[in-house]
Amino acid sequence: MTKSHKQEKTITELAYYPKHTDREASEEYRKNHNYLVHARDEPCIVCGSRENRETHHYFEWSEWNAIDESITQDVYEGNHWLSFDPYGFGELLEGNKVKNPDDIRNLVVLCRKCHRETETGFHETTGPLWIANDASEKKMEILNKDYEK
Ligand SMILES: [Zn+2]
Repeated sequence: MTKSHKQEKTITELAYYPKHTDREASEEYRKNHNYLVHARDEPCIVCGSRENRETHHYFEWSEWNAIDESITQDVYEGNHWLSFDPYGFGELLEGNKVKNPDDIRNLVVLCRKCHRETETGFHETTGPLWIANDASEKKMEILNKDYEK
């Protein structure tokens, strides 16, 4: 049996970014961010923190022009293995097409640590570890910089 251990690895990722406009927070993004973070007071979906909350685009803003609209629609309406509807908006807005990445169905609240922090954030880790981390008994147990078991 392999004992529990910490493993450090370096990954080289090559990604294609389609042509896109410079990123600016749209009015729709600001409205939806404020609704999720302030009006609904949604915590970080991973660790439950209400500190330093940000809203993550499930399908990346910069990748939106490479995304197939029919697939995203299936994702938001629960008909795809990547299904994503953490707040129930997919069912409420079923049939209304998601036309841009700032749509509320494409946003999720994460704290800065779970979103962008080096070695632990969604943008800084691989999908398999991030998914396992979110399903671990103690949140943030797998992507834990201080892991010393
Ligand atoms: Zn968090």
